[in-house]
Amino acid sequence: MRENLQHLFETTYRELRPRAPMPEFRVQFYAFANVNSTIRLRDGIMHVRVSDLLEGAPESIIKAIAHILLAKIYRKPIQPLHATRYRRYISSHDMTAKAHLVRQVRGRKRIESASGQVYDLDEVFEGLNRQFFYGLLARPQMTWSRSHARNSLAHYDPAHNAIVVSRVFDDRRVPRYAVEYIVYHEMLHLKHPVKLRGIRRRVHGPEFQAEEKLFPQLEDAKAFLKTL
Ligand SMILES: [Zn+2]
Repeated sequence: MRENLQHLFETTYRELRPRAPMPEFRVQFYAFANVNSTIRLRDGIMHVRVSDLLEGAPESIIKAIAHILLAKIYRKPIQPLHATRYRRYISSHDMTAKAHLVRQVRGRKRIESASGQVYDLDEVFEGLNRQFFYGLLARPQMTWSRSHARNSLAHYDPAHNAIVVSRVFDDRRVPRYAVEYIVYHEMLHLKHPVKLRGIRRRVHGPEFQAEEKLFPQLEDAKAFLKTL
């Protein structure tokens, strides 16, 4: 996805500036509290942040944003086609509701960083992603909880698309396999969204459980969790 983003910005740049040298693009989805996107050119590198609320948007919408941002920074006229496309998408009911929800939640809860004192959650996620998921899971926001909560060790938070891990795990006395297990478990929640079956929610269905057993130090990890 990231490469595709980069490519979209490069082709849009070419359309706007056919002969100018191509800057290096660093484009990422970013957890803004709204549908903002920002662009800035610094030392020849174009830094672009696109609101992660648009992460699932169709390519034509990302293309429209690329056009609008680049036209702005180079003071070129914005093509009405792109302006309209973008405006329609943003004002569609879903987007406004989603933005509103996220604003509410983010307003209360500050997104924390992935790198702790001992463990870096992004790095833990990517290692597990390669080992168990062919690197195919899209990484959500990985964050350490603000407090050392023991009642909630970790959870996946769909409103932020975030995996939040209790800070009790960011400790030299905690073995790496315990952190990996806790993150792996939440990654399985990403892979197996909760299905409704009748009235009962199957949070840890049979497929989920079978896949969890693939974790090599499952027993050790579970034993360690009991000591917390
Ligand atoms: Zn679970």
